[in-house]
Amino acid sequence: MKRFNTVLVWLRRDLRLHDHAALHYATQQAQRVIPVFIFDRNILHNLPPNDRRVGFIHASLQALQQTLSGLGSSMIVRHGDPVEQIPALAERWSADAVFCNHDDEPYAIQRDRQVAQQLQITGRTLFDFKDQVIFERDEVLTNQGKPFQVFTPYQRAWRRRLDLHPPEHLSVDVSALAKLPVETLPDLADLGFQDTPLPAGIIPGHEGAQTAWQDFQQRLDRYANLRNFPAKKGPSYLSVHLRFGTLSIRELVGRAWTTPGEGAQTWLNELIWREFYQQLLWHYPSLAEGHSFRAEFDHMEWPNPPGHFTAWCEARTGYPLVDAAMRQLLTSGYMHNRLRMVSAAFLVKDLQVDWRMGEAWFARHLLDFDLAANNGGWQWSASTGCDAQPWFRIFNPVTQSEKFDPDGQFIRRYLPELSHLDHRCIHAPWHCGGVKGYPPPLVDHAIARAATLARYKNVKTSN
Ligand SMILES: Cc1cc2nc3c(=O)[nH]c(=O)nc-3n(C[C@H](O)[C@H](O)[C@H](O)COP(=O)(O)OP(=O)(O)OC[C@H]3O[C@@H](n4cnc5c(N)ncnc54)[C@H](O)[C@@H]3O)c2cc1C
Repeated sequence: MKRFNTVLVWLRRDLRLHDHAALHYATQQAQRVIPVFIFDRNILHNLPPNDRRVGFIHASLQALQQTLSGLGSSMIVRHGDPVEQIPALAERWSADAVFCNHDDEPYAIQRDRQVAQQLQITGRTLFDFKDQVIFERDEVLTNQGKPFQVFTPYQRAWRRRLDLHPPEHLSVDVSALAKLPVETLPDLADLGFQDTPLPAGIIPGHEGAQTAWQDFQQRLDRYANLRNFPAKKGPSYLSVHLRFGTLSIRELVGRAWTTPGEGAQTWLNELIWREFYQQLLWHYPSLAEGHSFRAEFDHMEWPNPPGHFTAWCEARTGYPLVDAAMRQLLTSGYMHNRLRMVSAAFLVKDLQVDWRMGEAWFARHLLDFDLAANNGGWQWSASTGCDAQPWFRIFNPVTQSEKFDPDGQFIRRYLPELSHLDHRCIHAPWHCGGVKGYPPPLVDHAIARAATLARYKNVKTSN
C-alpha cells in the first residue's frame, strides 16, 4: 500500500529521470507521480535574451519530455513564480504532496521555504532530498562539529565517510509515472529568449550527458597527467551536466571511487572540491552577497583602473594566454580550470580590479555557472577565500603560459592573429617586437605585482 495517491516531483537542477532522489522516493511512495518544471521568472528576468543556459535547459527538457512521452507520461511545464505555480499545480492535480531535491543556493532556500508555506495552507507538504552532492550541509564536519575551512582534512573526512556510506543508485520506478497526454513545452520565444545555438560539442539532455561521460571514462586514467594543459583533451567537460543534473553525481563518484590509479583519484578530488564549496555556501550564505570569506579583505581598496576590466572582458590585455582564455569563455561558454585560475588571478592581482567584477562576468558567461564553485574559485584566486591561494603568491602570466601551453597550441586556437609566432614569441609577443593588430601588454607584470603585494600587505598588517 503506497502512502500517497498523487505526488508532484518538481525538477530544478536535476534534469534527468534516472538515479534521481526525489523521483526515487516519489515513485516508491505514490501511486501516481507527475514531474513538473517551472521556468522561474525571478531568475529568468535577470538574464539577457541570448543566454545559452536557458537554451541548454530548454533542450534538456525537450529530451526529457520525449522520453516521458515514450512511457505514456508527460511533464507539466510552466513559466512564472514557483511560489504561485507549484501550489496551483498541486491543487489542479489534487496532489497530496510535492517532492523535490535540495538546492542550497540562498535564493533557492528562501523560495522553497515560501513554496512550502503556501503548500501548508492547503495541508500539503514539500518533501526535499539530497541529490546533487554525495555529502551536504552538516554531513562532513570537524571533530568539534564545525564546518571545515581547509580542503585537505575535509577531503580526508569526506573519503572516510564515503567508505562507510558508499553511493547508492536511487532507481526510479517509471511505472508510477502518471499516464498523461504529452504537453507541448513553451517555445524559447514565449519565455523571452532567442534560439541561440549551443557551442560545438555541448549536447544537452540525458543523451549528451551520457556521451560525454562515456567519452571521459576512456580518458580517466590520463586525467592527472593532462588536466593542466588547456590544449589537451584532459578534463571531463562534464561541469554543465553536473550543473543541471543531466548526470547523477552518485554514478560519477561511484566510478571514480572504485577505480584505482592517480587519474581517477585526482578527478575524485575535484568532485570533492565541488562539495567543499557547496557546504561552505550552506554554512556561510553571506558569501553570495559579495562578502570575502576572510573578513579583513572586505576593507580592501580596489584601484579598478579605467579600461582594465573592459580590456580583460574583451580579451585585449596583451597577455596571450589570458586573452585566449577569455575568448574561449566568450565563444564556448567554457573555460579550462587552469585558465580560470590564471585569468582570475590576472584580473585581481595584475589589473587590480575587484574580484567581484570578474565573478559577475564569469557568472554571466559560463554555461556551467554555479554560485558556490564560482565564488569559491574567485575567492581562491583573490586570496580572500577559504583555503585560498596565499596573498603573496602571484601567478606570472608568461611563465604560466610557457609551462601549460608550451607550444602555444591553445593560444593559436583562440588567437589566430598570433598563430604565425613561434613558440618562443607567442607567450610574450612584445619581446619579439609585437604584432600589428594585437595590443601591447596592458600592465608590466613586475610593477603590478609589487603594487598588489603592497596593498595586500597593508590589509594584513592593519587587521
Ligand atoms: C575563478 C574560477 C571560477 C570557477 N567557476 C566555476 C563555476 O561557475 N562552475 C563550476 O562548475 N566550476 C567552476 N570552477 C571550477 C572549475 O574550473 C570547473 O569546475 C572546471 O573547469 C569544469 O570543467 P570540467 O568539468 O572539465 O572539470 P573536471 O576537471 O573534469 O572536474 C570534474 C568536476 O569537478 C568539479 N570541479 C572541478 N574543479 C572544481 C573546483 N575547483 N571547484 C569546484 N568544483 C570543481 C566540477 O563540477 C567539474 O565538472 C571555477 C574555478 C575558478 C578558478
